[in-house]
Amino acid sequence: MAVVASHATASSVQQTKGDFVDKFRQLEEVLPTPNQYRNAAGEPGDQYWQQKVDYRINVTLDERKRRLKADQQVTYTNNSPYTLRYLWLQLEQNRFKEDSMAERSVEFGGIGRRGPSTRSMEDGVKAGISFGELERQQWLADHQVGYDILNVSASDGTALPFVIAGSQMRIDLPQPLGSKGQLSFNIEYAYNIIEEDAVSARAGYEHFPNDARKGGNDIFLLAQWFPRLQAYSDYEAWHNKEFLGRGEFTLEFGDYEVNITVPADHIVSSTGELQNANAVLTKTQRERLEKAKTAKRPVFVVTAEEALENEKEGTKETKTWQFVAKNVRDFAWASSRKFMWDAKGVAQPNSAEAPLVMAMSFFPKEGGELWRKYSTEAVAHTLAVYSRFSFDYPYPVAQSVNGPVGGMEYPMITFNGPRTTWQEDGSRTYTQAEKRFLIGVVIHEIGHIYFPMTVNSDERQWTWMDEGINSFLDGVAGREWDPTIPWGVEPRDITWYMKSDVQVPIMTQSDSVLMLGPNAYTKPAAALNILREVVLGRERFDFAFKEYSRRWKFKRPTPADFFRTMEEASGVDLDWFWHGWFYTTDHVDISIDRVYKLRLDTENPDIDFKRDREDHAIKPTPLFEQRNRAEKRKTWVELNKDVRDFYDENDRFTPTNKERNAYQQFLADLEDNERKALERAIKEDKHYYVLDFSNLGGLVMPILLEINYRGGKKEMLHIPAEIWRRSPWKVSKLIVSDKEVESFVVDPQWETADVDVENNHYPRRIIPSRIEAFKAEESIDPVYRDIMHDITTEKEDPKVKQRMK
Ligand SMILES: [Zn+2]
Repeated sequence: MAVVASHATASSVQQTKGDFVDKFRQLEEVLPTPNQYRNAAGEPGDQYWQQKVDYRINVTLDERKRRLKADQQVTYTNNSPYTLRYLWLQLEQNRFKEDSMAERSVEFGGIGRRGPSTRSMEDGVKAGISFGELERQQWLADHQVGYDILNVSASDGTALPFVIAGSQMRIDLPQPLGSKGQLSFNIEYAYNIIEEDAVSARAGYEHFPNDARKGGNDIFLLAQWFPRLQAYSDYEAWHNKEFLGRGEFTLEFGDYEVNITVPADHIVSSTGELQNANAVLTKTQRERLEKAKTAKRPVFVVTAEEALENEKEGTKETKTWQFVAKNVRDFAWASSRKFMWDAKGVAQPNSAEAPLVMAMSFFPKEGGELWRKYSTEAVAHTLAVYSRFSFDYPYPVAQSVNGPVGGMEYPMITFNGPRTTWQEDGSRTYTQAEKRFLIGVVIHEIGHIYFPMTVNSDERQWTWMDEGINSFLDGVAGREWDPTIPWGVEPRDITWYMKSDVQVPIMTQSDSVLMLGPNAYTKPAAALNILREVVLGRERFDFAFKEYSRRWKFKRPTPADFFRTMEEASGVDLDWFWHGWFYTTDHVDISIDRVYKLRLDTENPDIDFKRDREDHAIKPTPLFEQRNRAEKRKTWVELNKDVRDFYDENDRFTPTNKERNAYQQFLADLEDNERKALERAIKEDKHYYVLDFSNLGGLVMPILLEINYRGGKKEMLHIPAEIWRRSPWKVSKLIVSDKEVESFVVDPQWETADVDVENNHYPRRIIPSRIEAFKAEESIDPVYRDIMHDITTEKEDPKVKQRMK
């Protein structure tokens, strides 16, 4: 080890009266006060409670009308210590109604729109609206959307009074429901299913007009399809934040029994375990499913040929598929005659809940090779990686279903969008981006079955708690799948965002976030990656993260519970980290501004004056003197060599006995230990480097310092973030080394999301970049059109492009 000692020098403290900043201030001042429900360790307290809501639903899919009709019995168990006089339900389908808060609060300039500006008036750039947005508005204008609530009644059949307010419904209870009380009620409802491609709703139908069957076929993805109880929690009571389309769902756990009636030739994939395989699958299909349990590669339960055959016909007959799901916080399903279905078993020998999980995929021919090869394998890979980080997958099935939704998660079932492209020769191909998309989205959505489907964080409020944590883990799983695929999950992938001015802190409610992707997915994922690889190290991070997962499995954590658990279980004070990364928009930009090389004075005049002379000699000769010499101009001294005195023979660095005596006296006055220390330091004659760093981004971080010695050896020095504790903007560090240093580099592996890596080099380096020759763009002003020539163009028939997916 060449670095023998180092410390920050006190003279570097830059804070002055009036602008003192403490980046290490404890977060307890901001976090909610611990109580008996959530304690100071970040654990569920000894009085922790949560409600339980069980559902029994009979639902029928009317394929022709694309309409769902259902009756459901809800059993609500009040585990809170409080009495409830009313219940709140979420009617998420009502968000599409034109009088919903979601529709009324849409601003122009959002997705699919480009707002006008004063600039556009001057330079002719027009405001814009995308075809997708036009299609959405037209579809919603042409269809009746939202729930028809047909009946709400108590278990004895008497009608219950209710009020619908936007996408919420309040049911008034005839008798107050006391603590530990339970009640059942029924709701009948129906609604028209949204066309997902037109409206973008996280669920809905997709129409395939080119299928062999007359009129084509549909894939139905059903989610947010039944009235669900609002969450009622110890920290917010009823969670009444209206659904605006972005902040996802805040839900209660419960048990479900759902009977799904669909056309008899449909294949259904659903949350839960299928109860009546005998009634809905053929003997061959059941045998294949059995074989799949121990297969190395996925086995087809419904083959491509069978699905293609199903696509041609259609039927008026129906079948009812029965599913049971225990301890889930939601329920979704999918249905189509286009589905092929493959499956393979994943053994979890240590799991009491699910010793065998069936990893399964449901997809149409449009999914092609991509789905056949990778979907179910990606499901199985996700279980392996996520279980290692948290707990065994807690449910009997894990499914990936292809449909019109890009990617969406529900307990035991996920909807994933990537497809192959049909080519003229009948083959289907996909780009590398589509391959990455498929593997990545399956990992991500299946990962959500852990977070937030099992670790039940509040999605409506804090998107980062499910998306950020999940993106961190999908980054782990993606890189363990194939690190040569650019997953976009490295800390360096977030620097563009962190230095941009379109930011709000991660700790911002979902619907108010600017740029949800980088804010709630990539930035928290990068933060956790850095926490693991740079701040805590893998052992401490993984232990703490697993503890968080264990503590909050099937429970409802808040951000404070996460922050507290990670800190308490890792044994490291992380308040500075949470504060910087989650509560501010600061970024990381540490600059190494200057390095001084120092040498210890020996105090011996014979040595120190000699060194002074050498230091003087390396200073450049003044230009004046150089030019005089070039002109062969002689000095007076040169022309008059006969006149000489003492100072011509002895320069100003000549030591005298006066200094030698003083030096001996200085040595004699030293204590023994002081003299020993000085003698040793002089003998070792080490190199002392003082490095000046500045924190340009505001976010305090550890300084990862690469030291490059003369001769080619390298060494890494990890300086903890705490170096900034008294001086957050500028700090100096002394490094004592027995070898001479050639250069220093801060964060050479780009592990800290430092937004400017060029000021990390000392000495600075030449910045590698590229340049491209370009042609100036032509003006769009109509005055430049050659109408005189273009008017003579002959009229052609348009070539109609056939829409093939
Ligand atoms: Zn997600």
